[in-house]
Amino acid sequence: MSTIIIQHDDCLRHNPGPSHPESALRVKAVMAGLDGLRSLEILPAPRATAGQISRVHPQAFWADITLKEPAEGVVGIDVDTFLSNGSVDAALRASGALCFAIDQILDNRALRAFCAVRPPGHHSEQAVAMGFCLLNHVAIGAMHALQRPDIKRVAIIDFDVHHGNGTQAIFEQNPDVMYVSSHQLPLYPGTGQTDETGCGNILNLPLAPGDGGKSFRHAWSSKGLPAIHGFEPDLILISAGFDAHQRDPLAQMELQDADYHWITDQICDLADDSCHGRVASILEGGYDLEALAGSSRAHVQALAC
Ligand SMILES: [Zn+2]
Repeated sequence: MSTIIIQHDDCLRHNPGPSHPESALRVKAVMAGLDGLRSLEILPAPRATAGQISRVHPQAFWADITLKEPAEGVVGIDVDTFLSNGSVDAALRASGALCFAIDQILDNRALRAFCAVRPPGHHSEQAVAMGFCLLNHVAIGAMHALQRPDIKRVAIIDFDVHHGNGTQAIFEQNPDVMYVSSHQLPLYPGTGQTDETGCGNILNLPLAPGDGGKSFRHAWSSKGLPAIHGFEPDLILISAGFDAHQRDPLAQMELQDADYHWITDQICDLADDSCHGRVASILEGGYDLEALAGSSRAHVQALAC
């Protein structure tokens, strides 16, 4: 079975302002980086439905965001999260991409998927949009998968350099979802300490500024991956942020393209053992365009092996 790439041009319409690091150029860089990779099928993302969103976000929260979307210009939600014309559609396509990817995988039409979409999602809490994020796509995807009778447990692996405070908050009392994150501390948003364990389903692997690939690989191979193996997930989702790359301007974690290939390869091996190889990944952060192209290519190459 092939690996599928899900995308939509509506994701290019979200424009948080000319000097904002989270730009449409990011998705263009990712798609350019994937150019020439073999056996990839590129499919368009549908919009997430109101029902899919409401499993994570209160209806009033999303209605408020929709109402705030301006016809032109930019409206701020917080100091670094903005809405432009097209932001709502972009976020809907991004959540819809992951739900669609999960359906393709669970219906045996694909084994693995990568959603090349934006804005990112893992900072969004149930009723708080923050950190460039509007909807929490990976949470919406996990809840979508759990509607299937044969999907009892979903593991979310988050290797974005920032802690996914939103994903953690959404699932910290839900034993059907395990959330494991490596991230730099101290760094935005400040959560992700080792003593934040939810109902035993949260594992945080904080790393220090300057920690490179060796520390990253050790954290995952000694703690993160064994914990997910023990959870026996029926599906693995990845919050794939590439801002721990050494070229990234927002953090200092010093990873290389090869580290992204390595972690993805490890995740696929784990998925082969525990959940018939099923992995669906979605783009989160990554703000250096050259690093984003190279590391997302390494990620998808490993997914497609
Ligand atoms: Zn990030």
